[in-house]
Amino acid sequence: AKRIVVKVGTSTLIHPNGRINLQAIDQLSFSLSGLVNEGKQVVLVSSGAIGVGMGQMGLDARPEKIPEQQALASMGQCELMTIYQQRFTTYGQKISQVLLTHDVLDYPESRQNVFNTLDTLLEWGIIPIINENDTIAVDELDHHTKFGDNDQLSAVVADIVDADLLIMLSDIDGFFNKNPRHFKDARLIDEINKIDSKVIEQAGGKGTKFGTGGMTTKLKAAKRILKHDRMMILANGENPSIIFRIMNGDKIGTLFR
Ligand code: ADP
Repeated sequence: AKRIVVKVGTSTLIHPNGRINLQAIDQLSFSLSGLVNEGKQVVLVSSGAIGVGMGQMGLDARPEKIPEQQALASMGQCELMTIYQQRFTTYGQKISQVLLTHDVLDYPESRQNVFNTLDTLLEWGIIPIINENDTIAVDELDHHTKFGDNDQLSAVVADIVDADLLIMLSDIDGFFNKNPRHFKDARLIDEINKIDSKVIEQAGGKGTKFGTGGMTTKLKAAKRILKHDRMMILANGENPSIIFRIMNGDKIGTLFR
């Protein structure tokens, strides 16, 4: 794989107590910088802005009001990028910020503009860090789960840059035949080739108060990935250096192909 999209969920970036998981961000920066040094082109889709904003405002629950979530996202995005900038700099890696909306694919001109920007950044060896623009679109916020914490946006980005692989890091080892948080006998599924109704039924609700989409939105992303003959690996981002093992071809998490 030459072009890789990596998506990290809020659960990877924010501790359950609401504090920013700086170790995870550091490991992520270290790992992705390493991939670029190996000649890969890497896009990071990062959630977490609202969680970081909640920390800044001392909130321990996500507000109901969408405008308040938008305001938190706006604050948190700034702080999150500051942290990324600082961590990536330690590894000699340049980054950029790109805020998108899901509907970019619907407008050929927008799609082309996004492609032109990302393609140039990637050719230059920069890691673009992408998030939804929560100020102008509330898809990720509305009903809490409509698009689910950038899961589907990351598949859209994979299409735009024509990535071979989407690595989706979450707070769980992969896709199980039922929600392992509720069923002790849940089994990890190594490989999924088709998102049919049987698979969809196995996806339970969301994990933590910070997570948003749960598995349903990850499966929707996987569906898009499979449709365009790309690969997706869902793995545990607790220690983001797992990315090296994934790239090494180790059997980790759930492979969708
Ligand atoms: P993230 O913030 O990483 O996007 P989410 O909380 O949105 O994480 O989604 C991950 C959660 O999905 C898991 O922690 C788990 O509780 C839940 N889940 C529901 N069904 C399944 C399943 N079949 N396999 C694995 N996890 C599942």
